[in-house]
Amino acid sequence: MDKKCDKYESLFIFSDEATLMEHIAHCPDCRKEHEKMQKVSDLIKEVKDEYKRPKYLALKVACALFLFIVGGVSVEMLDMRYGILDTIKYGAPLTMEDLGFPTDSYGLIMVD
Ligand SMILES: [Zn+2]
Repeated sequence: MDKKCDKYESLFIFSDEATLMEHIAHCPDCRKEHEKMQKVSDLIKEVKDEYKRPKYLALKVACALFLFIVGGVSVEMLDMRYGILDTIKYGAPLTMEDLGFPTDSYGLIMVD
């Protein structure tokens, strides 16, 4: 066989692993080609790990920011509704009268 075997590409793409390995076992041209592909594959695996790291870092930062914003908004919403921070500071939620506004018997602000 003086002509170089060119089955590797078609076997690699269109056939299964077992057929490819069987052909590689008794074809030196394809074995050489397969070794080259293996080197490229190893290189890609090595590079892939390098590219993964910053992606997870960005994900962690995004999660931290999300929790920070949602947590902050949640505390603010609960405080607006139940006066949690006022209760912690003064023992009871502050009324309009406590804040210095003129109020009627219902605790509503009086406007003259
Ligand atoms: Zn071959």
